[in-house]
Amino acid sequence: MVAEGATRGSEGPDRHADGHARPRIGVLGGTFDPPHVGHVAAAAAARDELGLDRVLLVVANDPWQKSPSRSITPAEDRFALVEAAVSGLEGVEASRLELDRGGPSYSIDTVEALRAGVLGEPADVVLIVGADLVATLPTWERAAELAKLATLAVVARPGSPDVRRASGWHVLTVDGPSLDVSSSELRERLVHGEDVEGLVPDPVMRCIRARHLYAVGR
Ligand code: ATP
Ligand code: MG
Repeated sequence: MVAEGATRGSEGPDRHADGHARPRIGVLGGTFDPPHVGHVAAAAAARDELGLDRVLLVVANDPWQKSPSRSITPAEDRFALVEAAVSGLEGVEASRLELDRGGPSYSIDTVEALRAGVLGEPADVVLIVGADLVATLPTWERAAELAKLATLAVVARPGSPDVRRASGWHVLTVDGPSLDVSSSELRERLVHGEDVEGLVPDPVMRCIRARHLYAVGR
């Protein structure tokens, strides 16, 4: 007997009232300025290791924790780059949820929308973060509530601690390839005309050139 709506039974994942399991959607949110092989590898590893139905790379409209301290590439350019990054990658998609919502990008709003069925049916959400972000979680908007509405999947990142727990969260770990690459480093390299071979997927590099981003081609 299943109660109205979804319930978490001892038998496994949340279920709809008709008994079928809710899809499990991974959310890798970020500024993606620009997206790189570390993002793609993290998404693919989470998809495979956790058996997620879909992984969304959710492009922040206004990354409120970063925007006061540096200029951010326009959101539509970053979205185009993320679309290029995931082209041909099964089960991994670029998501406009935060762009279309507008305003500052809070993960709690995205998680609530997915749980409420914004993609067609109510979903369980796995919030995928690099290990560098775990220490910042308490500063996120409505953090305690967020911890109750999503499972946290932590992806290893070079130079970041090996995280196995986070206060208030149900934590899963993803043993991704742990690639030593960041958007900050890439912006630096691109602006100085340095080689980024192997760090940025080819379709992303083509999109950067076509849109003249990061002073490339100037
Ligand atoms: P920046 O240097 O500008 O902060 P970034 O490379 O950290 O850029 P973000 O857009 O800030 O990229 O990150 C989005 C998400 O991807 C975060 O959860 C971050 O921890 C994760 N992430 C970024 N790079 C890696 C990587 N190399 N390995 C694993 N996770 C990563
Ligand atoms: Mg970052």
